[in-house]
Amino acid sequence: MTATETSASSRRIEWQLAEVRDVVIETPRVKSLLLRTAGWPGHLAGQHVDIRLTAGDGYQAQRSYSIASPPEDELLALTVERVKDGEVSQYLLDELHAGDQLELRGPIGGYFVWTGATGSPLCLIAGGAGVTPLMAMLRHRDRSTSRAPAVLMYSARSLEDVIYRDEIDAMARRDNSLRIVHALTREQPKDWIGHRGRLDKCLLAANCFPPAQDPAIYVCGPTTFVESVSGLLVELGFDPFSIKTERFGPSGG
Ligand SMILES: Cc1cc2nc3c(=O)[nH]c(=O)nc-3n(C[C@H](O)[C@H](O)[C@H](O)COP(=O)(O)OP(=O)(O)OC[C@H]3O[C@@H](n4cnc5c(N)ncnc54)[C@H](O)[C@@H]3O)c2cc1C
Repeated sequence: MTATETSASSRRIEWQLAEVRDVVIETPRVKSLLLRTAGWPGHLAGQHVDIRLTAGDGYQAQRSYSIASPPEDELLALTVERVKDGEVSQYLLDELHAGDQLELRGPIGGYFVWTGATGSPLCLIAGGAGVTPLMAMLRHRDRSTSRAPAVLMYSARSLEDVIYRDEIDAMARRDNSLRIVHALTREQPKDWIGHRGRLDKCLLAANCFPPAQDPAIYVCGPTTFVESVSGLLVELGFDPFSIKTERFGPSGG
C-alpha cells in the first residue's frame, strides 16, 4: 500500500459540499459533472465518492459514483448514466446545473485503484458506464511519463453510447502502446469492422495480455457483465486474485 492509500484509508471521510462548475453531455444517456470541492485531499485513479441528496422533508438518498478525472486534474469529474426510474441518477442528470451544490464524501476505496507503480501491462475491461473509473486510469497513464502497455476492451450498446469516444480515440492515436477494442452489443454502423455482440472468450483471449505477462486486470460494469467477464478470464487461465472488479448495479446491458 502506498503512502497516499494509507492516508486515504485511515482518514475519517466527512461529507462536504461540492460546487458544480460544468455539465458535459457525453452521450444521449450520460453526462459528466465537473465539481470543485474545497480542500479535496486528492485521490487515486479508480476510487469513488458517495453522493448524498436530501429532500425538503429530510428524506435522504445516497449512491456511489466513480471518479473519472485523474489525480492530476483540478476539478473532480463524475460521469452519470441514466438508469430507468433511477432516483438519484435522474436528479443528477436533469436537475443539476453549473453553480449548484451537492454533498459528497470521498475518496473511497483502496482496492480498485491503479497507480502504475508496478509497470505491469494494463488490461481494462468496461461494460457501459463501468468505463468511468477505467477512464481515470487511462487519463492518469496518459499524463505519466512511463506508460505501461495497455488495452481497453469496452462493451457498449451502440457507437453513440460509447462514452469519452473522441478522447479515447485521440489517446490511442498519439500512443501506440494503447489499444482500444470496442464491442457493440445492440446496434452497429453499416461499415462497422469491430466486434459485434458481447465480449466473448475469443475476444478476451486475443486482446488481453497473456497470464505469463502478469497483467493488472480491472473489470467494471453492471454486475452480470463483471461476473461473466471474470468467469471467462478464469477459464482462460488468469489467477482470480489478479482480476480486480467493481460492480455498478444489478442488471446487465
Ligand atoms: C462503487 C460504485 C461506483 C459507481 N460508479 C458509477 C458511475 O461512475 N456512474 C454511474 O452512472 N453509476 C455508478 N454507480 C451506480 C450508482 O451508484 C447507482 O446505483 C446508479 O446511478 C443508479 O442509482 P439510481 O438512484 O438512479 O437508481 P435506483 O433508484 O437505485 O434504482 C432504480 C432501478 O434501477 C435498477 N438499477 C440500479 N442501479 C442500476 C444500474 N447501475 N444499472 C441498471 N439498473 C440499475 C434498480 O434495481 C431499480 O430497479 C456506481 C456504483 C458503485 C457501487
